[in-house]
Amino acid sequence: MPYLYFFFNKIFYMRAKLIAANWKMNGSFALIDSMQKVLSPILEKTTCEVVICPPDVLLSSMNNTVKGSRIAVGAQNVHSETSGAFTGETSAPLLQECGVQWCIVGHSERRMLFGETDEFIRSKTETLLKHGIRPILCIGETLEQRESGNHEEVVVSQLGKGLSGLAAEDQLRCVVAYEPIWAIGTGVTATSKKAQEIHAFIRTIISEKFGNEIAENTSILYGGSCNPNNAKDLFTQKDIDGGLIGGASLKADDFLSIINSF
Ligand code: PEP
Repeated sequence: MPYLYFFFNKIFYMRAKLIAANWKMNGSFALIDSMQKVLSPILEKTTCEVVICPPDVLLSSMNNTVKGSRIAVGAQNVHSETSGAFTGETSAPLLQECGVQWCIVGHSERRMLFGETDEFIRSKTETLLKHGIRPILCIGETLEQRESGNHEEVVVSQLGKGLSGLAAEDQLRCVVAYEPIWAIGTGVTATSKKAQEIHAFIRTIISEKFGNEIAENTSILYGGSCNPNNAKDLFTQKDIDGGLIGGASLKADDFLSIINSF
């Protein structure tokens, strides 16, 4: 596997190309089947890792469908506690039983619509790591914050709080997704130049916190209206290692051409 290396019996993760689909509250059992059929031939040839994060009720079935293929199962959310009276929530051990290898945390919709704080997001990250699930930590600014020039400050704060206290090897298991809120689901994409600038900035912040080797081996994804037309331009930027794809991941052909953009 290109993503791992072993040193003194510890597993280290290397920077990898990754495309993750965030289906949000969309998708179906049928969509899992058609994704598997459409993507399978290309996945044998690509070096890009592909993760699909459907709604929780589809996870177990998806795990059975994609077992043995190069599609990894991801979740969109998790609770920080591992069991208890948390009606409607899902625990990391249960996700693990469903074959989940990745989980999105800190998505702007969870922050804004469900009031999730950086501290709660940080505790979810820790729980996921304890259960062998790799977090995809989403960060990104609102339009007002971008227009008032505060976007770097926002990103530093979300990143610092989301990753605080992690051991270096745990940081290597996390992927960061930069998702400017003004670009999510709006059809407005950050230009590749703007996206590259902030991705390079994020890598510098990770380097200051964890050192250059960790920063160079951390995958940083772009998310926000990424589609078959703009994917190539974004993915050829030096510090953009892939994408977190919402709307365009719901059509197998679009998702396939985004993967093919690498
Ligand atoms: C998302 O919600 O993570 C996302 C990137 O959505 P979209 O691609 O639809 O903008």
